[in-house]
Amino acid sequence: MSSERTFIMIKPDGVQRTLVGDIIQRFEKKGLKLTALKMFQASMDLLRQHYNDLSSKSFFEDLINYMSSGPLVCMVWEGLNAVKTGRQMLGETDPFNSLPGTIRGDYCLHIGRNVCHGSDSIDSAEKEIYLWFKKDELCLWSKTTAQWLYE
Ligand code: UDP
Ligand code: MG
Repeated sequence: MSSERTFIMIKPDGVQRTLVGDIIQRFEKKGLKLTALKMFQASMDLLRQHYNDLSSKSFFEDLINYMSSGPLVCMVWEGLNAVKTGRQMLGETDPFNSLPGTIRGDYCLHIGRNVCHGSDSIDSAEKEIYLWFKKDELCLWSKTTAQWLYE
């Protein structure tokens, strides 16, 4: 069974718009395993590290202000192809290009308020997980339904 992990984070607009339960439920129902979860008001420093690769973009400061404007819900989800599955479930960066049925396709309109983050590669997932969580905040547990999710 795969132990691939991805970092999923509900953004301040997702929290304000009461989408937390729905987004968690989508990942839970998909069959991925929740191994870490916390609500967190991030500092600008932490957000600058998280979005380090975008620091030269014109929207960078607006992005940091948006992401620090309220609490975030940070999660680690684990399972087969977790990273790509998470990205498929999110949709495209711009909600306008996101199909109905995806989180961004269903719940938002503007690229600057796209409700949820998901890691874009296995490497960045591992970096993001350890940027946002301490090792002892990750739970090791076995899903008793694993035999119904994996052949
Ligand atoms: N973003 C933005 N304007 C843009 C591109 C991105 O405001 O033109 C924001 C948006 O919130 C996006 C985040 O910056 O989710 C990170 O951008 P990235 O390209 O990594 O997109 P993602 O991986 O979130 O789909
Ligand atoms: Mg990204």
